Amino acid sequence: MLDASRETIAKALNADFRQIIFTASATEANNLALRGVTERAKASGIERPRIIISQIEHESVLETARKLEKNGVEVIYLAVNREGIIDLEVLQKLLNERTVLVSVMYANNEIGTIEPIREIGKIVSTYRGIGVYPMLHTDAVQAFQFLDCDVNELRVDLMTISGHKIYGPKGVGVLYIRSGKQEKKLEAIVTGGGQEYGLRSGTENVPAIVGLVEAVKEIQKVKKKNAKKISTLKLSFWNKLNKILPKTELNGVGDLKSTSTLPNILNVYFSDRLALDLLMTFDRIGIMASAGSACSMRSLEPSYVIQALGHSRVRAESSIRFSFGALTTRKDILDAVSRIKAVIK
Ligand code: PLP
Repeated sequence: MLDASRETIAKALNADFRQIIFTASATEANNLALRGVTERAKASGIERPRIIISQIEHESVLETARKLEKNGVEVIYLAVNREGIIDLEVLQKLLNERTVLVSVMYANNEIGTIEPIREIGKIVSTYRGIGVYPMLHTDAVQAFQFLDCDVNELRVDLMTISGHKIYGPKGVGVLYIRSGKQEKKLEAIVTGGGQEYGLRSGTENVPAIVGLVEAVKEIQKVKKKNAKKISTLKLSFWNKLNKILPKTELNGVGDLKSTSTLPNILNVYFSDRLALDLLMTFDRIGIMASAGSACSMRSLEPSYVIQALGHSRVRAESSIRFSFGALTTRKDILDAVSRIKAVIK
């Protein structure tokens, strides 16, 4: 079952069987990518390896980078524009011979912005650093359910995916690692019995892995259909909400039909500090929404993602994220809107 699962994931990413490592979460996969690559680089004689990450990465990348910074790794935090997109020219200029890893997420979990991974892949893969460097890692946790994740087309060396963002089980993740003729590219961070090609020891959680793989199989069949359906629902919700509260504005990509934004995430700024009151009211009336990231324990802090877009702390505190999914119906949207209408009245 483990072999068959590995084979299915490899196929889904256009990768090889041996390039798939199962982990206990996407957080762990991101840790393995950042820590594993920098440790290996140091071991191979690069004294102060540089890694470049965007300022809006998920905390599993951001916090790991901050830790590495304390241990002799130079971390560059790439700024993003108002829509949340990194500047390719700036990235190009930041690459140097000590750069071992660039880590830019495929799509952001709070604002839904999609990064130009294909273009980033071209830049990083054509830069000639030392040996196998620089490598490109992308956190595709949010992107996988809607976007093409062919690692060869995107020219990424490492990719993270997670079970529970594609309707699979919680507590299981994947790290794809491009292998080559070169020596091993990363050090294990969980050492022991040598499972997962020595890169992640510990007996694999087969039921969770099998669940993840079923989710991958299913999502591949419905990616396009889901994207269309969900983005229509999102657009309809936004138009109605904006009519009830005309002072609301979108955070991130302003054109909801743009190909630079995910179909399922809507991040709304509510003026007059209405957001906090609304959030509590929403909870009471059965609408689950979130200020900041839903998968963070620190969601009471104003979102660093919104602030990285150049918005004020006040705007970050006054913004709410709405998520839509394959199970959301038109009735849910109408129902939510009518509840919000009643509450506002
Ligand atoms: N990366 C992104 C973009 C996410 O949205 C999440 C949220 O769950 C993670 C990583 C962490 O995933 P996991 O909960 O599987 O560790």
